[in-house]
Amino acid sequence: MVSVRASLERALRISRKIVASGDRVVVAVSGGKDSAVALYVLRELQKSKSFGLKALHIDLGLMHAVPVVEDLAERLGVELRVVRLGDYGIDIPLASRLLRRPPCSVCGAVKRYLLNKVPREMGATKVATGHNADDILLFFFKDLAQGRVDWASKLKPLVPSTHPKLLPRIRPLFEVTGEETLAIAESLGLLFTREKCPLAPLKGDWMSEPLKSFVLSVEEKHPGFRVQLVRGIAKIPDLYEPGTLRECRVCGEPASSEVCSFCRIRLKLSSVQSKTI
Ligand SMILES: [Zn+2]
Repeated sequence: MVSVRASLERALRISRKIVASGDRVVVAVSGGKDSAVALYVLRELQKSKSFGLKALHIDLGLMHAVPVVEDLAERLGVELRVVRLGDYGIDIPLASRLLRRPPCSVCGAVKRYLLNKVPREMGATKVATGHNADDILLFFFKDLAQGRVDWASKLKPLVPSTHPKLLPRIRPLFEVTGEETLAIAESLGLLFTREKCPLAPLKGDWMSEPLKSFVLSVEEKHPGFRVQLVRGIAKIPDLYEPGTLRECRVCGEPASSEVCSFCRIRLKLSSVQSKTI
Protein backbone atom coordinates (compact mmCIF):
# COMPACT_ATOMS: atom_id res chain seq x y z
CA MET A 1 0.00 0.00 0.00
CA VAL A 2 1.55 3.28 -1.13
CA SER A 3 1.42 6.25 1.23
CA VAL A 4 1.45 9.43 -0.84
CA ARG A 5 2.15 11.55 2.22
CA ALA A 6 5.13 9.43 3.36
CA SER A 7 6.56 9.36 -0.17
CA LEU A 8 6.26 13.13 -0.51
CA GLU A 9 7.88 13.61 2.89
CA ARG A 10 10.79 11.44 1.82
CA ALA A 11 11.21 13.45 -1.40
CA LEU A 12 11.06 16.74 0.52
CA ARG A 13 13.59 15.55 3.09
CA ILE A 14 16.11 14.69 0.35
CA SER A 15 15.35 17.93 -1.52
CA ARG A 16 16.04 20.02 1.58
CA LYS A 17 19.53 18.51 1.72
CA ILE A 18 20.43 18.93 -1.95
CA VAL A 19 19.00 22.41 -2.60
CA ALA A 20 20.69 25.35 -0.87
CA SER A 21 19.13 28.73 -0.20
CA GLY A 22 19.88 31.02 -3.11
CA ASP A 23 20.27 28.14 -5.61
CA ARG A 24 18.70 28.53 -9.03
CA VAL A 25 17.38 25.10 -9.99
CA VAL A 26 16.30 24.11 -13.48
CA VAL A 27 14.20 20.93 -13.60
CA ALA A 28 14.38 18.82 -16.75
CA VAL A 29 10.76 17.95 -17.51
CA SER A 30 10.08 15.21 -20.04
CA GLY A 31 6.29 15.10 -19.82
CA GLY A 32 6.41 11.90 -17.77
CA LYS A 33 5.20 11.33 -14.20
CA ASP A 34 8.62 11.42 -12.52
CA SER A 35 9.80 14.83 -13.67
CA ALA A 36 6.29 16.23 -13.05
CA VAL A 37 6.52 15.06 -9.42
CA ALA A 38 10.12 16.32 -9.08
CA LEU A 39 8.95 19.78 -10.20
CA TYR A 40 6.02 19.64 -7.77
CA VAL A 41 8.27 18.61 -4.85
CA LEU A 42 10.69 21.47 -5.49
CA ARG A 43 7.78 23.91 -5.80
CA GLU A 44 6.63 22.70 -2.37
CA LEU A 45 10.15 23.14 -0.99
CA GLN A 46 10.04 26.80 -2.04
CA LYS A 47 7.47 27.31 0.74
CA SER A 48 10.23 26.81 3.31
CA LYS A 49 13.40 27.66 1.40
CA SER A 50 14.29 30.58 -0.82
CA PHE A 51 15.64 29.48 -4.20
CA GLY A 52 14.87 29.97 -7.89
CA LEU A 53 13.00 27.34 -9.91
CA LYS A 54 12.49 26.99 -13.66
CA ALA A 55 11.65 24.09 -15.96
CA LEU A 56 13.25 22.99 -19.22
CA HIS A 57 11.83 20.60 -21.80
CA ILE A 58 13.89 19.16 -24.64
CA ASP A 59 11.52 18.34 -27.49
CA LEU A 60 13.27 15.36 -29.08
CA GLY A 61 10.81 15.30 -31.96
CA LEU A 62 9.81 11.72 -31.01
CA MET A 63 6.80 12.28 -28.75
CA HIS A 64 4.09 14.86 -28.23
CA ALA A 65 4.82 16.06 -24.72
CA VAL A 66 5.02 19.84 -25.27
CA PRO A 67 1.33 20.61 -24.43
CA VAL A 68 1.63 18.39 -21.33
CA VAL A 69 4.70 20.16 -19.94
CA GLU A 70 3.21 23.56 -20.81
CA ASP A 71 0.12 22.71 -18.79
CA LEU A 72 2.20 21.37 -15.88
CA ALA A 73 4.40 24.47 -15.73
CA GLU A 74 1.41 26.79 -15.93
CA ARG A 75 -0.47 24.94 -13.17
CA LEU A 76 2.55 24.98 -10.88
CA GLY A 77 3.39 28.58 -11.78
CA VAL A 78 6.90 27.77 -13.02
CA GLU A 79 8.60 29.41 -15.99
CA LEU A 80 9.17 26.86 -18.77
CA ARG A 81 11.66 26.88 -21.61
CA VAL A 82 11.20 24.48 -24.53
CA VAL A 83 14.18 23.62 -26.73
CA ARG A 84 13.55 21.76 -29.98
CA LEU A 85 16.18 19.33 -31.20
CA GLY A 86 15.11 20.04 -34.77
CA ASP A 87 16.35 23.63 -34.31
CA TYR A 88 19.85 22.21 -33.91
CA GLY A 89 19.44 20.19 -37.09
CA ILE A 90 19.39 16.90 -35.16
CA ASP A 91 17.17 13.96 -36.01
CA ILE A 92 17.79 11.05 -33.62
CA PRO A 93 16.79 8.09 -35.87
CA LEU A 94 18.83 9.50 -38.77
CA ALA A 95 21.86 10.25 -36.56
CA SER A 96 21.62 6.74 -35.11
CA ARG A 97 21.77 5.19 -38.60
CA LEU A 98 24.57 7.43 -39.87
CA LEU A 99 26.76 7.05 -36.79
CA ARG A 100 25.88 3.36 -36.32
CA ARG A 101 25.07 4.08 -32.70
CA PRO A 102 21.93 2.87 -30.88
CA PRO A 103 19.26 5.62 -30.79
CA CYS A 104 19.33 5.62 -26.97
CA SER A 105 23.06 6.35 -27.06
CA VAL A 106 22.59 9.31 -29.45
CA CYS A 107 19.63 10.56 -27.41
CA GLY A 108 21.61 10.25 -24.16
CA ALA A 109 24.56 12.22 -25.56
CA VAL A 110 22.27 14.96 -26.89
CA LYS A 111 20.30 15.25 -23.64
CA ARG A 112 23.43 15.27 -21.44
CA TYR A 113 24.77 18.14 -23.52
CA LEU A 114 21.62 20.26 -23.71
CA LEU A 115 20.57 19.60 -20.10
CA ASN A 116 23.80 21.20 -19.01
CA LYS A 117 24.38 23.96 -21.57
CA VAL A 118 20.84 25.36 -21.69
CA PRO A 119 20.28 25.47 -17.88
CA ARG A 120 23.68 27.15 -17.48
CA GLU A 121 22.62 29.78 -20.01
CA MET A 122 19.37 30.15 -18.04
CA GLY A 123 21.47 31.04 -14.98
CA ALA A 124 21.03 27.72 -13.14
CA THR A 125 23.30 26.59 -10.31
CA LYS A 126 21.88 23.03 -10.35
CA VAL A 127 19.95 20.78 -12.74
CA ALA A 128 17.26 18.49 -11.31
CA THR A 129 16.09 15.30 -12.98
CA GLY A 130 13.16 13.01 -12.23
CA HIS A 131 15.16 9.80 -11.72
CA ASN A 132 13.43 7.71 -9.07
CA ALA A 133 14.70 4.91 -6.81
CA ASP A 134 13.87 2.23 -9.39
CA ASP A 135 15.93 4.06 -12.03
CA ILE A 136 18.83 4.38 -9.61
CA LEU A 137 18.72 0.65 -8.78
CA LEU A 138 18.65 -0.26 -12.45
CA PHE A 139 21.66 1.99 -13.19
CA PHE A 140 23.43 0.54 -10.15
CA PHE A 141 23.07 -3.11 -11.14
CA LYS A 142 23.87 -2.40 -14.78
CA ASP A 143 27.00 -0.46 -13.84
CA LEU A 144 28.15 -3.27 -11.55
CA ALA A 145 27.40 -5.94 -14.14
CA GLN A 146 29.50 -4.03 -16.66
CA GLY A 147 32.36 -3.51 -14.24
CA ARG A 148 31.77 0.25 -13.95
CA VAL A 149 32.06 0.41 -10.18
CA ASP A 150 33.19 4.04 -10.35
CA TRP A 151 30.00 4.98 -12.23
CA ALA A 152 27.89 3.10 -9.69
CA SER A 153 29.53 5.10 -6.91
CA LYS A 154 28.39 8.34 -8.59
CA LEU A 155 24.71 7.46 -8.05
CA LYS A 156 23.87 10.04 -5.40
CA PRO A 157 21.03 12.50 -4.73
CA LEU A 158 23.55 15.28 -5.49
CA VAL A 159 26.24 14.73 -8.12
CA PRO A 160 28.85 17.49 -7.81
CA SER A 161 30.33 19.34 -10.77
CA THR A 162 33.67 18.20 -12.20
CA HIS A 163 34.27 21.21 -14.50
CA PRO A 164 33.50 24.93 -14.19
CA LYS A 165 31.05 24.63 -17.11
CA LEU A 166 29.32 21.48 -15.80
CA LEU A 167 26.41 22.02 -13.42
CA PRO A 168 25.84 19.82 -10.36
CA ARG A 169 22.90 17.44 -10.80
CA ILE A 170 20.25 16.69 -8.22
CA ARG A 171 17.67 13.89 -7.94
CA PRO A 172 14.80 14.84 -5.60
CA LEU A 173 13.12 11.42 -6.12
CA PHE A 174 16.21 9.38 -5.22
CA GLU A 175 14.29 7.63 -2.40
CA VAL A 176 10.88 7.45 -4.08
CA THR A 177 9.86 4.35 -6.07
CA GLY A 178 8.09 4.28 -9.42
CA GLU A 179 4.72 3.29 -7.92
CA GLU A 180 5.04 6.09 -5.39
CA THR A 181 5.68 8.78 -8.01
CA LEU A 182 2.72 7.46 -9.98
CA ALA A 183 0.52 7.60 -6.86
CA ILE A 184 1.70 11.15 -6.08
CA ALA A 185 1.12 12.35 -9.65
CA GLU A 186 -2.35 10.78 -9.76
CA SER A 187 -3.43 11.98 -6.34
CA LEU A 188 -2.37 15.56 -7.15
CA GLY A 189 -3.94 15.43 -10.60
CA LEU A 190 -0.65 16.37 -12.28
CA LEU A 191 -0.83 16.03 -16.03
CA PHE A 192 1.69 13.62 -17.50
CA THR A 193 2.00 11.49 -20.58
CA ARG A 194 2.09 7.68 -20.52
CA GLU A 195 3.48 7.66 -24.03
CA LYS A 196 6.59 5.50 -24.34
CA CYS A 197 9.52 6.43 -26.53
CA PRO A 198 8.84 4.86 -29.96
CA LEU A 199 12.54 3.98 -30.35
CA ALA A 200 13.05 2.36 -26.95
CA PRO A 201 12.04 -1.23 -27.82
CA LEU A 202 14.31 -1.35 -30.87
CA LYS A 203 17.54 -2.23 -29.13
CA GLY A 204 18.43 -5.41 -27.32
CA ASP A 205 18.39 -4.29 -23.69
CA TRP A 206 18.28 -7.77 -22.17
CA MET A 207 19.17 -6.67 -18.66
CA SER A 208 16.49 -4.19 -17.58
CA GLU A 209 13.41 -6.40 -17.36
CA PRO A 210 15.01 -9.31 -15.40
CA LEU A 211 16.66 -6.82 -13.04
CA LYS A 212 13.36 -5.02 -12.41
CA SER A 213 11.66 -8.37 -11.68
CA PHE A 214 14.47 -9.37 -9.33
CA VAL A 215 14.27 -6.12 -7.36
CA LEU A 216 10.46 -6.32 -7.17
CA SER A 217 10.56 -9.94 -6.02
CA VAL A 218 12.74 -8.95 -3.05
CA GLU A 219 10.50 -5.94 -2.38
CA GLU A 220 7.45 -8.20 -2.25
CA LYS A 221 9.01 -10.23 0.54
CA HIS A 222 10.62 -7.25 2.27
CA PRO A 223 8.64 -4.04 1.73
CA GLY A 224 10.95 -1.05 1.87
CA PHE A 225 13.87 -2.98 0.37
CA ARG A 226 14.34 -0.56 -2.52
CA VAL A 227 14.47 2.53 -0.34
CA GLN A 228 16.87 0.76 2.01
CA LEU A 229 19.08 -0.20 -0.93
CA VAL A 230 19.26 3.28 -2.50
CA ARG A 231 20.15 4.70 0.92
CA GLY A 232 23.01 2.19 1.04
CA ILE A 233 24.10 3.18 -2.47
CA ALA A 234 24.15 6.85 -1.47
CA LYS A 235 26.70 5.98 1.24
CA ILE A 236 29.20 4.34 -1.12
CA PRO A 237 32.35 6.50 -1.25
CA ASP A 238 32.74 8.29 -4.59
CA LEU A 239 35.30 6.30 -6.59
CA TYR A 240 34.81 8.25 -9.80
CA GLU A 241 37.88 10.07 -11.06
CA PRO A 242 36.94 12.43 -13.85
CA GLY A 243 39.30 12.33 -16.80
CA THR A 244 40.77 15.60 -17.94
CA LEU A 245 38.08 17.56 -19.69
CA ARG A 246 38.98 20.07 -22.35
CA GLU A 247 36.72 22.47 -24.24
CA CYS A 248 35.21 21.42 -27.57
CA ARG A 249 36.96 23.07 -30.50
CA VAL A 250 33.60 23.78 -32.16
CA CYS A 251 31.26 24.89 -29.34
CA GLY A 252 33.48 25.44 -26.30
CA GLU A 253 31.52 23.06 -24.06
CA PRO A 254 33.33 20.51 -21.83
CA ALA A 255 34.48 17.50 -23.85
CA SER A 256 36.66 14.46 -23.37
CA SER A 257 38.01 14.71 -26.93
CA GLU A 258 38.81 17.55 -29.31
CA VAL A 259 35.22 17.76 -30.60
CA CYS A 260 32.33 16.99 -28.24
CA SER A 261 29.85 14.21 -28.90
CA PHE A 262 27.02 16.68 -29.64
CA CYS A 263 29.07 18.54 -32.26
CA ARG A 264 30.20 15.26 -33.83
CA ILE A 265 26.54 14.29 -34.27
CA ARG A 266 25.67 17.71 -35.73
CA LEU A 267 28.67 17.72 -38.08
CA LYS A 268 27.84 14.24 -39.36
CA LEU A 269 24.24 15.19 -40.06
CA SER A 270 25.13 18.47 -41.74
CA SER A 271 27.74 16.80 -43.96
CA VAL A 272 25.13 14.31 -45.17
CA GLN A 273 22.47 16.99 -45.65
CA SER A 274 24.84 19.19 -47.66
CA LYS A 275 25.63 16.23 -49.96
CA THR A 276 21.96 15.67 -50.70
CA ILE A 277 21.26 19.30 -51.67
ZN1 LIG B 1 30.91 20.85 -29.18
